[in-house]
Amino acid sequence: MPTASILGESDGDVRMAGRLLREGHLVALPTETVYGLAGNALIEDTVRRIFSVKGRPLIDPLIVHVHEWKQVEELCPDIPPLARQLADAFWPGPLTLILPKAPSVSDLLTAGNPTVAVRMPAHPLARRILQAADIPVAAPSANPFGYISPTCAAHVMDSLGERIEWIVDGGPCQKGIESTIVDVSGPGALRLLRPGPLSPEILSASLDGTPIDSRPPGETDKPVAPGLLTRHYSPHTPLLLVSHGELPPRAPEGRCAWLAISRAHAEASPSGYERYWFSETGALEDIAQSLFAMLRSLDAQGYARIYIERPPADGLGLALIDRLTRAAAR
Ligand code: AMP
Ligand code: MG
Repeated sequence: MPTASILGESDGDVRMAGRLLREGHLVALPTETVYGLAGNALIEDTVRRIFSVKGRPLIDPLIVHVHEWKQVEELCPDIPPLARQLADAFWPGPLTLILPKAPSVSDLLTAGNPTVAVRMPAHPLARRILQAADIPVAAPSANPFGYISPTCAAHVMDSLGERIEWIVDGGPCQKGIESTIVDVSGPGALRLLRPGPLSPEILSASLDGTPIDSRPPGETDKPVAPGLLTRHYSPHTPLLLVSHGELPPRAPEGRCAWLAISRAHAEASPSGYERYWFSETGALEDIAQSLFAMLRSLDAQGYARIYIERPPADGLGLALIDRLTRAAAR
């Protein structure tokens, strides 16, 4: 297949992306979290192609993206009241809700689960395209399974450009990490399945303090969520995490990078490292925004090892530590 063609923000390109999606083609598109590999969620062959282009195992269900509430009701006829409250508070936005699915929703899409993951993204261009397509759109991150997620069109081109026909370029993603996923499908407590841009504290506060179980899935009595694998988002170069506020060891072997959360901390490292920082000041939002781009760029430079400072564990830090821990897992 030839290299993917790039579409932009013009009305003509948006109409075309919408038509391509409706007809069952795959289109990579920007969202506020990461770039998604989008396809018509109602066409079984298209959903199958999403899995195959990514090399994603069929046990890892996809998130369905919508632009209006009516579509949610079609995917889930019986919406739990707390789901409605969360959607009212945070949609459009970086929150995915796990809902009981309608019988018509494909088992391929949900990996055989009785639930479906749904999100209404906030990115203006994604919203225009979803509106033009006017079908529910399945969209996992637009990267080969297990590799670092894409946060700009060039990342998608680098890793999937030979495998897909269309990429919409909407510039860099504003949030930079994947959506927060909350399971609201069961009768029991709400459960955090993946930390993301919206922290459990913020979600819980919008529900008058209704608790959200945010223990890692392995530590609860419920089965581990499909697809939440220990190793994910991973560069080819070995990563070593250093505790927050500490420095990497003296005299590393080989050519090594030190990636700190702020400039000051990068510059404090022992000599012998090539030094980088996520953010001038160490602000967590900036770290999220640059996280995957930094990992990709350092992975391309042939280092023996990359040492990375763990961010502090509060608020958005929970999601950053989750991504870095999976990226470093071997
Ligand atoms: P990605 O598309 O790469 O952002 O990954 C989406 C994640 O959503 C998957 O890894 C699953 O863990 C999660 N997910 C999707 N659908 C469901 C579901 N029905 N139940 C539980 N988790 C889900
Ligand atoms: Mg992904």
